[in-house]
Amino acid sequence: MKCKRCQIPAVVALPSHHTAFCKDCFLVFARRLVERAIKEHAMFTFDDRILVAISGGKDSLALSWQLKDLGYIIEGLHIDLGIPESSPIARAYAERFCTVSEIPLHVIETAKLGLAMCDVKRRVKRPICSVCGQTKRYLFNKFAQENGFTVLATGHNLDDETSRLFANVMRWDVEFLSDQGPVMHAEKGFAKKVKPLFRLTEFETANLCFLAGIDYGYAPCPYSSKASFPIYKNLLADLEDIQPGRKIRFYDGFLKDGRQGFAPRGETSVDIQPCTTCGYPTSAGECGYCRLTALMNDEG
Ligand code: SF4
Ligand code: ZN
Repeated sequence: MKCKRCQIPAVVALPSHHTAFCKDCFLVFARRLVERAIKEHAMFTFDDRILVAISGGKDSLALSWQLKDLGYIIEGLHIDLGIPESSPIARAYAERFCTVSEIPLHVIETAKLGLAMCDVKRRVKRPICSVCGQTKRYLFNKFAQENGFTVLATGHNLDDETSRLFANVMRWDVEFLSDQGPVMHAEKGFAKKVKPLFRLTEFETANLCFLAGIDYGYAPCPYSSKASFPIYKNLLADLEDIQPGRKIRFYDGFLKDGRQGFAPRGETSVDIQPCTTCGYPTSAGECGYCRLTALMNDEG
């Protein structure tokens, strides 16, 4: 198998693109997919201050590396979730990468806010991934707003996006479908959010890390079996095996022809208002984060 661009032996085969690349040409390919996503969706410019959500996993490290390599102004935010089995490992990868790459890294420890996820899991009845996701979204948004970042970038890849889209379609979750896409514009107390890796599959971001020499590890969250998206990811992976390219066509088709059928946020029945306690946006009087904090402090 030869590299499609330069004809030397290939190291990565990409059936969905009907191609294969050597190391250098794969890095060019990945870089172009990220540049295309940024430009096509007007995600940010070289004047923006970009906050990257750095979990310590491969996607967030690949995103940080690529944005820094392209010359964007980035800083990282890592949220230490207080899960003994996985958080210290994830944090160590994030800190090591940012030190080596000279990327400023901010860290928020949820334990210091009374919200160590191992304690939250014991005390809160709701599914832990729902509470954890809500907490992370709240803290990223608040940090971006309070520290003058113009955009918040996350490492969601094509597999993340298509599995979420698939799940939302299966539930006909109209509100989430209207919001889904690689860009969420700043409005009503929400920072602008972008997903520059949305054209790369999980396999491609893993290859990007490996070939760019990024030291990434895997610290599986012990609660991840409760998450539902992996089921949809696996179904789509099976489909992709049979029909290479199906995932990106599903997602591109949704952005081009499907999404406009759903009302954008603000035009649905959900009324977004400032939280009565913290002032950040919520559809309830007091936001979920403030209610969680009150509950944990009451019971703590
Ligand atoms: Fe949080 Fe669930 Fe992800 Fe674990 S798997 S980090 S609990 S969202
Ligand atoms: Zn609040």
